[in-house]
Amino acid sequence: MRGTIIYGPRDIRFEERADPTIVEPTDAVIRTVATCVCGSDLWRYRGIADVAQPTPIGHEYVGIVEQVGSSVTTLRPGQFVVGGFLTSDNTCPVCRAGAHANCQHGTGYDGCQAELIRVPNADGTLLATPEQPSDDLVPSLLALSDVMCTGWHAAVCADVRPGGTVVVVGDGAVGLSGVLAAAELGAERIIAMSRHADRQALATAFGATHIVAERGDAGVEAVKELTDGIGADSVLECVGTDESVVQALKSARPGGMVGWVGVPHVTDIPQEHMFWKNVGLRGGPAPVRAYLPDLLERVWDRRINPGRVFDLTLPLRDVAEAYAAMDERRAIKALLQP
Ligand SMILES: [Zn+2]
Repeated sequence: MRGTIIYGPRDIRFEERADPTIVEPTDAVIRTVATCVCGSDLWRYRGIADVAQPTPIGHEYVGIVEQVGSSVTTLRPGQFVVGGFLTSDNTCPVCRAGAHANCQHGTGYDGCQAELIRVPNADGTLLATPEQPSDDLVPSLLALSDVMCTGWHAAVCADVRPGGTVVVVGDGAVGLSGVLAAAELGAERIIAMSRHADRQALATAFGATHIVAERGDAGVEAVKELTDGIGADSVLECVGTDESVVQALKSARPGGMVGWVGVPHVTDIPQEHMFWKNVGLRGGPAPVRAYLPDLLERVWDRRINPGRVFDLTLPLRDVAEAYAAMDERRAIKALLQP
């Protein structure tokens, strides 16, 4: 089979690799139907995170089960499945508490931007659709593999409630998914912070009621003008830089909550924006398997269409172009088809 390897900054290659096989009895091997490039993959692509050696890459996928190990009970070959960006057993005490991203037996993957994928912990990671999906549902099912569950996690961590005010910092695929999550959770006012016309339009389609184009303190002031001068009940931080985290904390009202899902590249979190304002900060990698049953049903019933974040579709062999398009902001998110 062929799969994607990152060799270093801006060096993405699509190469012949050994076919994955069942290693543990809890494994499945799936044939990829669609995969994609994550904003977090770009940290290595841009050279901000180190690439010590050529490394298989990718952690978002949907596919068809090819093989299952001898102890897999909930899946059979031929099923269409969605899995999260980390594997989980769905049975350990941490998973039973709903924190699947921190599963005691959780793992990552050996590169999902590939034609075949070995999925450890198959029963606790993969969820099969009720039947084979029609082609138009595939992008939204793929979005559940990471961005939609991550945006949902931001909204849950930020304690978004019916009637509440929400600010979303970050207009990438996760931020836009966070807008959709906040709308689904009943927020009344959703302020999307975005400077790009195409992303503003999608944010509005996903339920944003206001757009703020300013950043930093000017952005915070604009938020306050829209929130009785106090800031928002809930703020979704979907970037992960010093500037964006501080902007998120400053945008929360006293006693408000920030849901933090932007992978942190932060040196310091100033306490004056938290303790003295009674502002909470909570977040981390999303427990995808905890959210999958509910979100899969919303997609299957066509109540939400998170796949709209994909604005570029390419053959998997053109994966390097997908990275370049996202790096240069020519695409919000690229979908890849083997
Ligand atoms: Zn677990």
